[in-house]
Amino acid sequence: MRSKHIILVGAGLVGSLLAVFLARRGFTVTVYERRPDLRKSRISAGRSINLALANRGMAALERAGILKDLRPLLIPMAGRMIHDEQGQTSFLSYGHRPEEVIYSVSRGGLNQKLLELAEAEGSTIHFEQNCLGVDFANKKLKMLNETNRKEAWLDFEVVLGTDGSASHVRDAILRATGGKCVEEPLGHGYKELTIEAGADGSFRMDERSLHIWPRGEFMLIALPNPDASFTLTLFLPQTGAESFATLQDKQSVHDFFRKYFPDARDMMPDLTEQFFTNPLGNLATIWCDTWHYRGNALLLGDAAHAIVPFHGQGMNCGFEDVVAFDQLLNDEDMPCETLFERFFAERKPNADAIATMALENYVEMRSTVRDPRFALKKVLSFALEDRFGPRFIPRYSMVMFHTMPYAQAQQRGIIQEDILNQLTAGISSLEQVDFSQASRLIEQKL
Ligand code: FAD
Repeated sequence: MRSKHIILVGAGLVGSLLAVFLARRGFTVTVYERRPDLRKSRISAGRSINLALANRGMAALERAGILKDLRPLLIPMAGRMIHDEQGQTSFLSYGHRPEEVIYSVSRGGLNQKLLELAEAEGSTIHFEQNCLGVDFANKKLKMLNETNRKEAWLDFEVVLGTDGSASHVRDAILRATGGKCVEEPLGHGYKELTIEAGADGSFRMDERSLHIWPRGEFMLIALPNPDASFTLTLFLPQTGAESFATLQDKQSVHDFFRKYFPDARDMMPDLTEQFFTNPLGNLATIWCDTWHYRGNALLLGDAAHAIVPFHGQGMNCGFEDVVAFDQLLNDEDMPCETLFERFFAERKPNADAIATMALENYVEMRSTVRDPRFALKKVLSFALEDRFGPRFIPRYSMVMFHTMPYAQAQQRGIIQEDILNQLTAGISSLEQVDFSQASRLIEQKL
């Protein structure tokens, strides 16, 4: 990359981590962020309050040398705690090794640390600077200063769009290249709620779990926070019999929670206040076939490939983008356009794979998880990993606890699902599994 000055649009999770790596490589990095500085104003970091961090994201943070500082922010979650309609719970482990856990982390806390590190490495971050568009012919960015509402044009040589799922840099790239982008709405929205810590300051549910209330077409989940509260997210169709459209008054919200989530409702005395104060978020997958304009502009993170949150991988995938980009920079003589092409060729199949797996995981979390056969396949997966690993690794583990390309995890997952279906057909317990058949199938297919 010949240009030594790089402009980043967006200082969210991906932009701020990217600024760290680029500044370390000696680039002059200037970041423009639409929102105020998180460290100085009482604003949320946007979207979900906390996130699940898994191995891919951890590997990137380790590479940035920041994982050690982040440890105090991380709460390990070892599995799913399933809540039924009567409030009974059952635990399904994510992995079967002590280190196979995912971590709940505060979005704001993580973003703040990354901003600090980016600046410490020499990046300059300008806040309340909204990028309205890109003029590629004249290599200028159209910026709006959000404090004085003045517009200005800014020269650039290379701009990296880390401006999230509604990216303006993406719009400009698509206009300039004629590329295609499909935004596929999920048709389900989300709303966040909070269960506060108990009177003695302790967690009111098991804090080493990601809690799920699966209800078929919709679900409620909860992740623990360091202050012993839980952030809950209700995922629900936007319209229909059981939907956000039908939850328009206090009584309907009360009735809905009493029917489907009685134990959670009992821990939220201010449920309806929260429900009608907190915003309703939309969910969509962005399938975009063009991520760059010549050697001048490239998209990373959600700007390139926003996905639904059901595998907890959007940020993890974006952090992996940053590492992949950083690795390509090892070849200092590679022209920028070639670098951007290679980045796209490497990351696009993986982004598509995790986008599809994230959609599939919604069905698993809200519905399949209640099926006894699902639990049997889960324990069988662990048993097969014990006997035949690394040839057989449960798909969830491949995505969350390994760093093999997502596309590979997806392909292996399809074959493994077929094997699991064959091995569990007509049986109800692990003792009934024919392990010599398992050995044959794994030998033949994997
Ligand atoms: P963003 O985080 O959206 O950051 C973009 C930044 O660009 C923002 O700071 C924004 O203000 C700025 N910006 C936008 N437009 C402009 C502009 N025009 N000019 C200047 N700046 C601009 N991922 C996980 O890995 N694990 C999870 O558990 C998880 N849970 C999620 C739960 C929900 C409900 C949702 C919605 C998402 C979840 N994700 C999760 C996905 C994750 O939030 C995203 O993948 C991640 O935030 C992407 O980071 P980003 O930096 O690419 O985009």
